[in-house]
Amino acid sequence: MLVATPIGNLGDISARAIEELERADLVCCEDTRRTGRLLSHLAITAKMMRTDDHTENDVAPKVISLLESGQRVVLVSDAGTPGVSDPGQRLVQLVIEAGFDVTTVPGPSAALAALVASGLATSRFVFEGFLDRKGGGRRDQLADIASQPRTSIIYESPNRTAATLRDLAEACGPERPAVVARELTKLHEEMVRGSLSELAEWADTGVRGEVVIVVSGCPPRAAATDSDIIRAVGSELHSGASRRDAVASVASALGVGRRRVYELALSVDDSSSNS
Ligand code: SAM
Repeated sequence: MLVATPIGNLGDISARAIEELERADLVCCEDTRRTGRLLSHLAITAKMMRTDDHTENDVAPKVISLLESGQRVVLVSDAGTPGVSDPGQRLVQLVIEAGFDVTTVPGPSAALAALVASGLATSRFVFEGFLDRKGGGRRDQLADIASQPRTSIIYESPNRTAATLRDLAEACGPERPAVVARELTKLHEEMVRGSLSELAEWADTGVRGEVVIVVSGCPPRAAATDSDIIRAVGSELHSGASRRDAVASVASALGVGRRRVYELALSVDDSSSNS
């Protein structure tokens, strides 16, 4: 059983979460001291076992053997929903493979809390978790976010928030709307809204607490006009492409149907093309 716990405000623990923690024979958790504080706040005494990215594989056989003997095992993370940029996925897979059902007490998660309060589109969104810190992986992730039509949700540490906002502004353009959701559900909760460049400037003076960055999706491309298509085909032919290749590449680059491009391409002088 995966149980979500508060991301700041202890009042967000659900009645079912408390019930499952009370009934648990074992509580698997990232940090026994941190979960111990939550349990003692709830006046619950439970056996705990440390379960993080390094120990999930070793913990799984112990959990499975408890489940075989009919005991109840709960997995929590330090805060929020286990498995969301937190340990859990591996243990869940192994328990399912061993033939047991995995269920959940849903509850707080910083990603959804930030999204719904951001004011940005909620109908379709992408959860990116933490971006790579550097290198090609980070460049690819930034490029994906830049061309992504859905709202992107990014977890970040406070001391890297300014750098990530700067990189996002460079990749997506300075004007792209975004929101920094800081200290959700806590005393100093704040939603900072603006363009990526405004947020990068805001973050430059230092960011404290926990943050989620929510970035608006890439605006839809303006529909290509006939003259855009004719100009693009002309330029392809001029650089030596065959008419057939020019049609294919313009159709894909401008997001228009090949038939339309082909018909317009017939009016373009192909004296410099390969076919
Ligand atoms: N599993 C958690 C969840 O469901 O939200 C996320 C765990 S991840 C290790 C921690 C990251 O979540 C933080 O670096 C921050 O990006 C985000 N986060 C967690 N609590 C937050 C809060 N109260 N306000 C804003 N962001 C928070």
